[in-house]
Amino acid sequence: MRTIDHVIAGGTGSQSARTHKVWNPSTGEVQAEVALGDAALLDRAVEAAKAVQPEWAATNPQKRARVMFRYKELLEANMQELAELLSSEHGKVIDDAKGDVQRGLEVIEYACGIPQVGKGEYTAGAGTGIDVYSMRQPLGIGAGITPFNFPAMIPMWMFGMAIAAGNAFILKPSERDPSVPVRLTELFLEAGAPEGLLQCVHGDKEMVDAILDHPDIAGVSFVGSSDIAHYVYKRGVAAGKRVQAMGGAKNHGIVMPDADLDMVVNDLAGAAFGSAGERCMALPVVVPVGEDTAERLRDKLIPAINGLRVGVSTDKDAHYGPVVTPEHKSRIEQWIDTAEKEGAEIVVDGRGFSLQGHEDGFFVGPTLIDRVTPDMDSYKEEIFGPVLQIVRAADFEEAVRLPSEHQYGNGVAIFTRNGHAAREFAQRVNVGMVGINVPIPVPVSYHTFGGWKRSAFGDTNQYGTEGLKFWTRVKTVTQRWPDGTADGDDKSAFMIPTL
Ligand code: NAD
Repeated sequence: MRTIDHVIAGGTGSQSARTHKVWNPSTGEVQAEVALGDAALLDRAVEAAKAVQPEWAATNPQKRARVMFRYKELLEANMQELAELLSSEHGKVIDDAKGDVQRGLEVIEYACGIPQVGKGEYTAGAGTGIDVYSMRQPLGIGAGITPFNFPAMIPMWMFGMAIAAGNAFILKPSERDPSVPVRLTELFLEAGAPEGLLQCVHGDKEMVDAILDHPDIAGVSFVGSSDIAHYVYKRGVAAGKRVQAMGGAKNHGIVMPDADLDMVVNDLAGAAFGSAGERCMALPVVVPVGEDTAERLRDKLIPAINGLRVGVSTDKDAHYGPVVTPEHKSRIEQWIDTAEKEGAEIVVDGRGFSLQGHEDGFFVGPTLIDRVTPDMDSYKEEIFGPVLQIVRAADFEEAVRLPSEHQYGNGVAIFTRNGHAAREFAQRVNVGMVGINVPIPVPVSYHTFGGWKRSAFGDTNQYGTEGLKFWTRVKTVTQRWPDGTADGDDKSAFMIPTL
């Protein structure tokens, strides 16, 4: 059995006594095992990071950017290999896996601009003979704890910004699909980074706790499910760290009566079922406004959903592949059971789906559930599978209220031809990222990513200028260069300076 090892400076880490299975979700076979590290292994990684970080921080930003430029080229050159590796452990189809790598690469492109975006601020003559300037300095050592569903993009959201800003970084990826994070780390070394600047340690709760408690790790970025995000946030902050912790989601797509329904159905199918619904920016809830819209939408959705092709992750014609583990498959099917018991109508049923020739793969058929209401647990909780729920709203006000009152507030979309309604919706909805006729509004790398409510703990978003803020501290200098003519008997020195 192949063992997937840690990448820490000065060699590999694998004295790990514990391991975790890595599946091939398309075949249902265990294809490797990943070493699970502990606090002692983390100590080794932290020591290696400490040895290189000060020099890296002192390296001029243009030289740091050159490493990022070389890294970008290496990612492009290795795109196919990375996408195949990613889809073999995650289960998403290969073109979708390329998108996963590409969206991370775009953050690396943004990070190539660190000499420009990392510039400080300066005020000449803030007082007589006084200048004030501020600079952003790296935190030191940062760590990232990432989920299974974007094993390339999310690590790069974090370490792209952290390292460009002058930090060393320790990545703790999901134990379910760890191979791409390992390759991303190796390629970073190939790009010319010193050993120890980016390291990858595998593990579960034991390693996460070691990171949260480690006195030399100054900042932690987490992405995963909400209960664990909240736990990570509380424990990390209690240990005096800066923490951002992104959690789960249940994004709504509002369909106004004037929307172009053919476009909506196409967008919804992709956003609800792409990547088997295992995206925090998927659209698993559709809210048609008015009964007539609901009926017309449902009539068009049913054939579209029945026409979806579920296949192995290497199937070029498949719309989506298997889900990540057997446990996750059964959890999704249990949520469909729950919805049925709660009185919702299972219109298209994906339970018990089996793919001919791949009967042991972790496939779930596309599922459409109608007449879902806000009091149902299957609506309140995240399902994270190829399941689309219809919640019918009587009017625009109810359509604004539903996502606004939901416990999660990651993303939301509205489909309409009415600019006023769209503007009103974007202003009022209590959600962090809004799409207007855009089903998956993941912001581009030079904006910033982050949800509201239980979708994010902490106050700083991922990537863009917010990411730079998270991974740096501001130092502000007030300077005066006296000309030697002061008489030394100035009583104003005893008063708080004002201008
Ligand atoms: P998860 O919460 O199970 O795991 C995330 C990370 O936490 C992993 O590295 C895992 O090893 C670690 N972990 C697991 N159990 C832990 C525990 N008890 N204590 C400490 N650490 C633990 O999440 P997942 O299933 O890998 O990913 C899917 C979830 O991530 C979904 O809820 C999805 O919405 C969310 N997600 C959110 C965003 C966002 O930006 N808001 C993006 C992607 C995914």
